[in-house]
Amino acid sequence: MNLPIPTIKDVTARAVEAPLPRPIKTSVGTIPSAPLVLIDVVTDQDIVGRAYIFGYTPVTLRPLVDLIANLRSLLLGKSVSPFERMRDFNGTFRLLGRQGLLGMAISGLDMALWDALGRAHEQSVCRLLGGDETPVLAYDSYGVIDPRHDIALLENSLEQGFTAIKIKIGNGDLRKDVETVSAVREAIGADTRLMVDYNQSLTVPEAVRRINRLAEYDLQWVEEPVTAEDLSGHAAVRARCKVAIQTGENWWFPEDIARAIAAGASDFAMLDIMKIGGVTGWLRAAGQAEGASLPVSSHLFIEASAQVLAVTPSAHYLEYLDVAGAILSEPLKVEHGKLRPRGPGLGLDWDARAVNRYAL
Ligand SMILES: [Mg+2]
Repeated sequence: MNLPIPTIKDVTARAVEAPLPRPIKTSVGTIPSAPLVLIDVVTDQDIVGRAYIFGYTPVTLRPLVDLIANLRSLLLGKSVSPFERMRDFNGTFRLLGRQGLLGMAISGLDMALWDALGRAHEQSVCRLLGGDETPVLAYDSYGVIDPRHDIALLENSLEQGFTAIKIKIGNGDLRKDVETVSAVREAIGADTRLMVDYNQSLTVPEAVRRINRLAEYDLQWVEEPVTAEDLSGHAAVRARCKVAIQTGENWWFPEDIARAIAAGASDFAMLDIMKIGGVTGWLRAAGQAEGASLPVSSHLFIEASAQVLAVTPSAHYLEYLDVAGAILSEPLKVEHGKLRPRGPGLGLDWDARAVNRYAL
């Protein structure tokens, strides 16, 4: 059997602001709703590959839509071959570099190409990559919580089958961190894994002071205690703390994980598929993580992350933080604390009415 290789006929992008089940509160600000760019890649067989990217703030949406519209001409008539298209992008943007909005656009297009390829073969992306649709372990990801009012939410997570929970802290002094973490530990019990995320809000000495004080609460990891770009700072915190350090959601493309491994910056690797270079970049980063014995977790993008975690040798946790469920016709649901990758492709279909309703 010789299947024809699909080629790219059109690329479109549109912006939506999707409601979130709960606002994402962090130590450095709150994200009230999800600013998303939806990407559609249409093939010559009229298969539509879809992916979304997360703009963090609405001010990025118009530039991202324009950027993807401008990248369209580089893709038209080319084959739906994600490795080849990534090679093109790497060449075209060698001098500029790929961090920031351009990196997000490239990663989003890569995901949409993999989705189209999966749909062309009527398979999920993880099957296309030679894996199985094995459910991946997830943790429920909270923002800053109020220990007096939000404990019932955590209990609801445990009832849904989650065996791990993450909260954000650092929106106050150490006393407030201790109050929050001790209340959460008490509520979820000793057997539930607990992670905390400082969202880059501390200096190295303050991180060391706080993390060692929190060690008694049996934390699975402390995430981004200091500025994400400060790899030596992360390494310094790691060397002086009794708790494992997690970072990586701000690593851009596979080159950044190489730098982080060389710096000894983290006990784990948290890959963001929109910053690491889409499915293609993830595969290359996951290989490096395996070589360095770093357990790999995902950041946002639950549908695409479930696909790639299923084929990641040192897969650890999927972050369950659903930013796009409001505009998808069939959002992925957690079962017994796990998420099963679903095809075809990445398993994404737009809910056309919801997309129109939240369009910008
Ligand atoms: Mg984080």
